Amino acid sequence: MHELSIVSSIVDSVTESVSAYPGARVVEVRLKIGELSAVIEDSLQFCYGIATEGTPLAGSRLVVKILPVLVHCGACGSEGKLDSLQSFRCPICDQPLTDMRQGRELELDSIEIEEVEATA
Ligand SMILES: [Zn+2]
Repeated sequence: MHELSIVSSIVDSVTESVSAYPGARVVEVRLKIGELSAVIEDSLQFCYGIATEGTPLAGSRLVVKILPVLVHCGACGSEGKLDSLQSFRCPICDQPLTDMRQGRELELDSIEIEEVEATA
């Protein structure tokens, strides 16, 4: 499953980042995903629940931000959001678009952790 491998690599990198804070608990993980990366958020959430079990991310919240597809047309210079994913043509001059500025992202945006009291 596509989503499970994405989630596993995210869990790995977050686990690595929080290893610098012993005992810290991950509260929230935020992802940025481009509209074209073909990720289904529901399955992402489902896989997240499974993949985080037994890790410092267990019980944390996964927040997914979907980024629209932004294109730049080399022919007429217009820039904007692509309305239809079916057609990769400029809405202004109808030339095929080759320059995509945004839409294929699949990255970790930020994480929120809760540090354990040092007095314990
Ligand atoms: Zn154009």
